[in-house]
Amino acid sequence: MDKIVSLCKRRGFVYPGSEIYGGLGGTWDYGPLGVALKRHVKNEWWKTNVLYREDAVGMDAAIMMNPKVWEASGHTEAFSDPLIECKTCKKRFRADQIPGVLVQDDRGKVPAGTLCPSGGHELDVGSIEWVPIRKFNLLVKSYLGVVEGQQSEVFLRGEITQGVHVNFRNILDSTRIKVPFGVGQIGKAFRNEITPGNFTFRSREFEQMEMQFYIRPDDEEGRKWFDYWKEQRMSWYTSLGIQKEKLRFRDHEPDERAHYARAATDVEYNSPFGWKEFEGIHHRGDWDLTRHQKYSGVDMKYRDPDSGEEFVPWVIETSGGVDRATLFFLIDAYKEEEKRVVLQLDPRLSPYKVAVFPLVANKPQLVEKAKKIFSELKHSLLAVTWDDRGNIGKRYYAQDEIGTPWCVTIDYQTLEDDTVTVRDRDTTGQERLNIANLLAYFQSQLEKND
Ligand code: ATP
Repeated sequence: MDKIVSLCKRRGFVYPGSEIYGGLGGTWDYGPLGVALKRHVKNEWWKTNVLYREDAVGMDAAIMMNPKVWEASGHTEAFSDPLIECKTCKKRFRADQIPGVLVQDDRGKVPAGTLCPSGGHELDVGSIEWVPIRKFNLLVKSYLGVVEGQQSEVFLRGEITQGVHVNFRNILDSTRIKVPFGVGQIGKAFRNEITPGNFTFRSREFEQMEMQFYIRPDDEEGRKWFDYWKEQRMSWYTSLGIQKEKLRFRDHEPDERAHYARAATDVEYNSPFGWKEFEGIHHRGDWDLTRHQKYSGVDMKYRDPDSGEEFVPWVIETSGGVDRATLFFLIDAYKEEEKRVVLQLDPRLSPYKVAVFPLVANKPQLVEKAKKIFSELKHSLLAVTWDDRGNIGKRYYAQDEIGTPWCVTIDYQTLEDDTVTVRDRDTTGQERLNIANLLAYFQSQLEKND
């Protein structure tokens, strides 16, 4: 993990948030390579879940919503984590994440010998018997309005989900989509996490990519679509290169499920800090729509255009973390070989697809030719980078480390026959291609697994 964090900082994937001011706990800034990788993760998700599907549309709701939304969704009441304070170091922790702490409803018990997560001493909560545990609401508050004292309190959304459900009626009225159908959305969410950590894994500001899939309210349909989405989401991760043996499903126990869920499964990754969730698949039943119907007074029933039947649909949700997925793609792709470090990212995710080099930087004819190829590729593929420092070996090494799948070198032969060397990141093999065929070659490689 230390190696990943240091690579991320050194090469411009991820920096600590507001670093020059000492940082801000639980926030991270994505640098030039990180923003590219994260954007490619989101693009791939959008392609598979919205663009390529005939039964899905997309939307993008506001981060700040009417506070009634959070009452209706149950977040003001139930969106909380159990908070425990160690009397020795005065630090606060999430009780359900400390091995050795038992949590039952709103009480907890610490068996003797349990270590405090801050290290060096035993966790002391004042008693070895059951003690009350405070529920800590995770919603982040802010204030809107210009007159001091008359500002209204708003929450930054704790999940992006509700933005879709509150627009259910709008979507039905403004499109011709029919149940079963999905609404995809990607956007920021905010949680006042008690213990952010493991790099970007648990942050206080993060992005989610979610599908809310509306179905007929029927047990058989519910099971069918829940299984369907489990399979879809797992195969999305493996199709983008995550090793199968590093992935698993973990079904939630009934007492662990969120207040809205009829069934829930996590997709987990075997990370350097253990098996961790990076996506949840939830059968939300009609919880959201009936609650919004009740709190807003707006009719959320769907009328089947063929049978005339009316019902409030059920929802199967897939809710993934963009930052967690990005982190696990990075971890999974990281390989140390004898002579190099290589990020074996799927080319569709790589920050740069192609690096263009003139063999040497001090031969104007080579540089000019290389610039021309660079600019043509950049206008078509966009994610193309340039390097003319040091020798070719060093440049390959630098590109391998950030996962660039192909390097193009312009040499003296190029000036004679318009061919270039294309070097492959994974095999390190090289082949000569005609400049006229370059773009088509890269495009076909990128589309191979689509
Ligand atoms: P956890 O148990 O780890 O707190 P959760 O079960 O509360 O997660 P959900 O509410 O199901 O998570 O959110 C869906 C997805 O959003 C998660 O699978 C994760 O990828 C992402 N996510 C949730 N909280 C965070 C966070 N604090 N930082 C980064 N990503 C997050």
